[in-house]
Amino acid sequence: MSDCIFCKIVAGDLPSKKVYEDDQILAFHDIQPASPIHVLIIPKKHIVSLADAGDEDWALIGHIQGAAAQIARELEVEQSGYRVITNIGANAGQIVHHLHYHLMAGARLSPLGV
Ligand code: C5P
Repeated sequence: MSDCIFCKIVAGDLPSKKVYEDDQILAFHDIQPASPIHVLIIPKKHIVSLADAGDEDWALIGHIQGAAAQIARELEVEQSGYRVITNIGANAGQIVHHLHYHLMAGARLSPLGV
C-alpha cells in the first residue's frame, strides 16, 4: 500500500535497523522502544491487523511466531523472558495499520491490562 509506513520500510523507501529478513517477513528495531529490546516483526504482505488475516495467511503468521522465537534466541533473551504481542484496533492502541508483532525484552515487563 503506497501510504503505509511499514510497506515503505519493506520497500526500502524508509530506513530501518533490520534484525532479520527473508522473502516473507522483516524484523527491525522499534524507533521508539518501550523496553530495552523492542523489535517489530512484520509480514511483507500488507495485512491491516490479525483481524484482517485470511485463511491463506495462517502459515505466514505461524512463520512470524517462529521467527520471533528465533530472534529471541539470537538476542539471548530466551532465558530471561520476553513478550510477543500484536495490537488490534483502537482499544488495543494500534497506531500502524499494517500487521506487526512487538517482541519486547530486556527488563521486567509490566503486566498486561488496562
Ligand atoms: O502496535 P502499534 O501500532 O501501537 O505500534 C506501532 C509501533 O511502530 C510503535 O511502537 C512505533 O514506535 C513503531 N514505529 C516504528 N517505525 C516507524 C513508525 C512506527 O518503529 N517508522
